[in-house]
Formats: sequence, structure tokens, C-alpha cells
Amino acid sequence: MVDFLIKYRGILVVLFVLPASLIFKLYMGSRNRLVFWLNSAPDKHPEKVAKVQEQVKAWMRETGGSVPMCTARPGWQAMSLKQGNYKKTHYQVNINLQDILEIDKDKGTVRVEPMVNMGQITAALKPLGWMLAVVPELDALTVGGLVNGFGIESSSHKYGLFQHICASFEIVTANGELVKCSRTENREMFYAIPWSYGSLGFLVCAEIKIVPAKDFVHLSYIPFKSKQAFLQRFTEESNKPIEKAYDFIEGLMYSEQEGVLMLGNFSNSVPEGKTKNAINNFWKPWFYEHVRTFLNKEQPEEEWIPLRHYYHRHTRSFFWEMEQIIPFGNQPWFRYLLGWMSPPDISLLKLTETDAIHELYDAHHMDQDFLIPISTLDQSLSFFHQQVNYYPLWLCPMKVFETPFRGMVNPTKDEQMFVDVGIYGEPDVENYQAKITTRKLEQFVAQAGGFQALYADTYQTREELRQMFDHTLLDKLRKENNALKTFPEPFDKVSRAART
Ligand SMILES: Cc1cc2nc3c(=O)[nH]c(=O)nc-3n(C[C@H](O)[C@H](O)[C@H](O)COP(=O)(O)OP(=O)(O)OC[C@H]3O[C@@H](n4cnc5c(N)ncnc54)[C@H](O)[C@@H]3O)c2cc1C
Repeated sequence: MVDFLIKYRGILVVLFVLPASLIFKLYMGSRNRLVFWLNSAPDKHPEKVAKVQEQVKAWMRETGGSVPMCTARPGWQAMSLKQGNYKKTHYQVNINLQDILEIDKDKGTVRVEPMVNMGQITAALKPLGWMLAVVPELDALTVGGLVNGFGIESSSHKYGLFQHICASFEIVTANGELVKCSRTENREMFYAIPWSYGSLGFLVCAEIKIVPAKDFVHLSYIPFKSKQAFLQRFTEESNKPIEKAYDFIEGLMYSEQEGVLMLGNFSNSVPEGKTKNAINNFWKPWFYEHVRTFLNKEQPEEEWIPLRHYYHRHTRSFFWEMEQIIPFGNQPWFRYLLGWMSPPDISLLKLTETDAIHELYDAHHMDQDFLIPISTLDQSLSFFHQQVNYYPLWLCPMKVFETPFRGMVNPTKDEQMFVDVGIYGEPDVENYQAKITTRKLEQFVAQAGGFQALYADTYQTREELRQMFDHTLLDKLRKENNALKTFPEPFDKVSRAART
């Protein structure tokens, strides 16, 4: 039975998870629209925050503070492929706050509640001609998760991580107090929240930078057959001053030496005679396979991509993970017949995974994002090639800004430009052992002055994690805000040992 489930998972996903996902998506999609013009009630925000505060006070009454707290969102609903064991033992507080509170065009910000997700924000902003400065691309990623965890996209070389486009936060602390913080008010708190993984309090509101958006992205695909040539151009483009830089930069490596660099700019329209490509139409090939076709071109080529298609370009294929789930998902017959139902919903996929599938993934699969200083990219790619040898590799430049107070993630002494290297697939090396290889990569990245994305499996010890991520400010703020025993520290939520 177990063998059957594993072997024919693709067919089971198509028969059961895809239709269920479609219903879920239709429900969520209509909810996404409805929530803003039927359910939206920004003036109820203070009432909802008061409910969070009441729950914190109830926790104190009922437990005397002896049991740590966490959000009540079930693990299967979160994007991370792992579920936290702590949810079973901690006191759960409902953060049912999912509304857009205010769009301030003069200030260039949007105020949102933490359970609002990327799909909802982009759907609300796009018709108004605005967009978040950084749009982490999967619809289901929430503001709460992106602030307390991390988020990036192909505009991050200009604007930084998701945390860098945030202007202010409001959190409810373990004392039940509502604390507002920004670059000018409660500054230490403001810089301590990103990457804190909910270890300081409950985020109840965030104010985020928006930028004027246009209808298309004019994207150039530049093929390279030499790693050195690729890296030289990638680094040059990433390091350009903001006013000269492209709006979007992304690289896909298809082998140790071959890659395609994508450079994009916002565009109002498609010039006559030029190619418009709505890449996310269900009958179109998966985006990374489309990009692969440019490898064999003699010259760079260009296309005009509708804006939301561009932002969600990796959604249908979950970058390149979908091939593992539905191996025939990119075949033309499947796309034309059933592509309109794709992709399956990640949370439903997680719900339907058996232990055997977990074990199989554990043993043969790697899902990691490593954030490394751009000057170490050449050396890092060689090391990853030697240890993992998996392609495509995702390369996304991102600026780690120096901040007045050092938070969990800081630039190196000499360098602010980093690159997210995403490894999502089955390593192709002999005797791959998940833990041993991941440990080697973690140590390499730590030595390079980089960081590990913590939605992924981390085998680092508590001390190693504390060395990679500067906990000084977080520890201080946790102590000052009675959070030491009332919220688990990041390691106790993200380490491999703390997750199923
Ligand atoms: C398949 C996949 C694709 C991904 N794609 C991208 C991508 O394209 N771009 C990108 O940037 N990242 C991506 N990520 C990583 C993603 O950004 C992180 O996993 C992010 O933290 C997930 O957000 P979430 O909404 O699922 O949050 P969760 O996993 O629910 O939350 C993350 C942490 O924040 C805490 N938290 C959440 N809300 C609150 C709150 N209101 N108050 C206090 N604490 C809170 C949670 O307790 C948890 O510790 C991807 C991850 C996966 C698994």
C-alpha cells in the first residue's frame, strides 16, 4: 500500500488533491476579493487587537504564565514544509486578523493585518496602480510569516528583504500590551522583530512600502555557457546603484556552466511587433522550462509579461518541485486537459502526505535557501555543485541593509549585496545523506558570512544558530518584554529537532 501511494502519488494528486485544491482556490479566491469589499472592516481592527490582548490575559489567568504561547495557525497551513512540534504543547492564541486597513498613496504605504497574504494584497493593490516593493511570489505567504520569518523576490537587490520594506509594526507582548514600533518609535523593538519567529510577541499590524506599478514587465533572457561570464554580468547588474539598476534580476543555472540571466523593467505597454507572453496561462510550459529554451539561443531575447504573471511566474511549478509531485505535469496533453486545475494547494498537499512520503523526502530531497555574500557566489556554487549537484539553481540578488540597531540578519563588514541560492530537488551525488550534507552546507555558509532560510530543515545546534543569527538585540528585547519563558526562542521553533 505504501509503495503504491509513493509510486502513484502523481495520479492520486491529480484525482483527489487537484479537484479539492480547485474548490479551495475558488473559495479562497472569492474570499480574497470579498474580504475587502464585503468583509473588510478596517474600523474593527482595534476590536480584533483587543481580542488578542484578552487571550493573552486569559493565558496568564489559566496557566500563570507557565506554558509558552504560539499562534493557533495549524502547521499544515503554513508554507514551511515542516510542522512545529511546539504547536502540540504550547498555548495557542488565535490571530484572526486578515484585512487591509489603509492604502496611503501620499506616504507610499499600505497598513495590513498579519494574516493577509500576498495574493490578497497584490489583488487589492494592482487595480489601483500600486504594488508592494517586494512581492514574495506565492499567494499563500502571509505578512506575519514574512515579517517574523523572511521574504525576498527579484526586486530585493533594490529594496532588500521583506523586513526592509516595512515602515512600522504593532505587536501584542506577553504582558498583553500593544506596542507600536517604527524607525523612529521604539526603534530597538522595530529592528528586533524580523527573523524573531514570533519570539517577542504577536504581530497584529504592519505598514509596508508600496511602489507605482505598470502593466507589464519587459524581460530580457540572456543565455550563458560559461559560469564565469554569467557571474560577472550577474554581479555587475546586482551591484548597480538603485537608480541605474533593472527593476528585477533573477538567474537560473541549469548546469555548472550554463545559466540564463533575466533582467526586467516595468513597462506600460507592449511595443508594436514585440512579443507579449502571458506565461501563466494554464496551457503554457512551466516557466523554468520556458527559460531553459533560451539557453540555446545565440543572442539575448526579450518578452513583455503581464505584471501578475511575472510576479507569480514560479507558482504553477513551485519553482521546479512540481515535477516530483506530478511528473507528467508539464506535458502538453496534461497542460491542455487539466492544467487549468493546477497547481495543487500546498497546504492540501501537506495534509495528504503520508509518513512514508515524509521519509522519502527526508532521505532524497533538499529544500534550502542559502543567503550568501555575492563575492562568495563563485566559490559557493562550486561547493554546492560538489556536494549536491542539483539543477536548476535559483539565484536572486538581495540587499541586506545596514540598520541603526543590529538585528538577527546583518550585512558583512564589507558587503551588503547577498544572493539567495535556492536548492529545491533531489541531489545527484553518490551516497547523499541529508543530515551530513546539510550540515556541510550550513557550515560552509556560516563561514562565508551567510544565512540559512529557516523555513527549511536546519540541523544547526543552538550555539551555531546563535552565531549565524545575531541574537543580542532579540535577547535584550525578549528580556525587557517578559518574553523569555512566555514565547519559545527561534531555535526551539525552527530546528530540525523541534519539527516533524
Ligand atoms: C514551497 C515554498 C515556497 C516559498 N517561496 C518563497 C518565495 O517565493 N519567496 C520568499 O520570500 N519566500 C518563500 N518561501 C519561504 C517563506 O518566505 C517562509 O516560509 C515564510 O516565513 C512563510 O510564511 P508563512 O506565511 O507560511 O508563515 P508561517 O510559517 O506561518 O510563519 C513563520 C514564522 O512566523 C511566525 N508568525 C507568523 N505570524 C505571526 C504573527 N502574527 N505574530 C507572531 N509570529 C508570527 C510563526 O510562528 C512562524 O514562526 C517559500 C517557502 C516554501 C516552503
